[in-house]
Amino acid sequence: MTVPTLTLNDGHTIPQLGFGVFKVDPDETERIVSDALEAGYRHIDTAAVYGNEIGVGRAIQKSGIPRDELFITTKLWNSDQGTQSAFDAIDLSLEKLQLDSVNLYLIHWPRPDLDKYLETWLAMEQIRDAGKATSIGVSNFHVPHLEKILAGSSTVPAVDQIELHPTFQQRELRAWGAEHGMAIEAWGPLGQGKYDLLGMPALQQIAAAHGVTPAQVVIRWHLQSGIIVFPKSNSAERIRQNFDVFGFELTAAEMAAIDALDAGNRVGADPEMATF
Ligand code: NAD
Repeated sequence: MTVPTLTLNDGHTIPQLGFGVFKVDPDETERIVSDALEAGYRHIDTAAVYGNEIGVGRAIQKSGIPRDELFITTKLWNSDQGTQSAFDAIDLSLEKLQLDSVNLYLIHWPRPDLDKYLETWLAMEQIRDAGKATSIGVSNFHVPHLEKILAGSSTVPAVDQIELHPTFQQRELRAWGAEHGMAIEAWGPLGQGKYDLLGMPALQQIAAAHGVTPAQVVIRWHLQSGIIVFPKSNSAERIRQNFDVFGFELTAAEMAAIDALDAGNRVGADPEMATF
């Protein structure tokens, strides 16, 4: 199964479908990421704050998959915003991951109250220039945060990783991304299981029409919308199911029906208010 790739604004490519490891128990991460690699995933999304970079690194080592066939993302945690702290944070993440560089390094949250994300972004540019991250981007950034980065640096973030699922479609940020050549990554693509997304009649009907599950329909909707997506599951069967989304295609009418589910239904933290 060939996963489509997108070309980022710095010319590097990213597999559009990956595997996320938020809330994957550090003790189980090696096994679960090994299941994902076995299922065919080559793009793994982790973060320093998930506490499981060591397990991701072990699974990579054990797999024997050549480094250039893998796409590994990690994220700089809020308490590491700043210049020297960012340099230290990437070194620690690389050590845990047993890697010389990550493919993508993200500022995890803007934390506008700290007012350090622009300084941190300038450090991210240096981290990239030092070869420790091939591409750099942000996560949970809103338009004003992105505009400040645009005005104060010479790099448009390669991606913004944001909460995005059928009832929370982030049209403003997607439009900004399209205008400025910044790709959009979806976190919580299945609504984090926090509401009955998969029980919604529109999704059930579309799933039945294709003989697939509502989760597969939602992942397919992300892919056909041009969004990068990395659903998480601890179960080997669902890990495989979530990767098995290239044997069917949603029609324009089905895409429109899912587009119509947008309801401003944020299930995670509001980046403007987050103080963790
Ligand atoms: P998700 O939307 O991927 O939901 C995961 C939950 O959906 C699982 O706990 C599981 O119960 C359920 N699920 C998975 N596959 C299923 C299937 N086939 N059928 C039925 N239920 C299924 O939520 P997530 O893990 O929060 O988001 C995905 C990834 O995004 C994370 O693992 C992480 O890498 C990233 N993320 C980033 C941020 C950020 O602030 N940047 C925040 C949250 C998550």
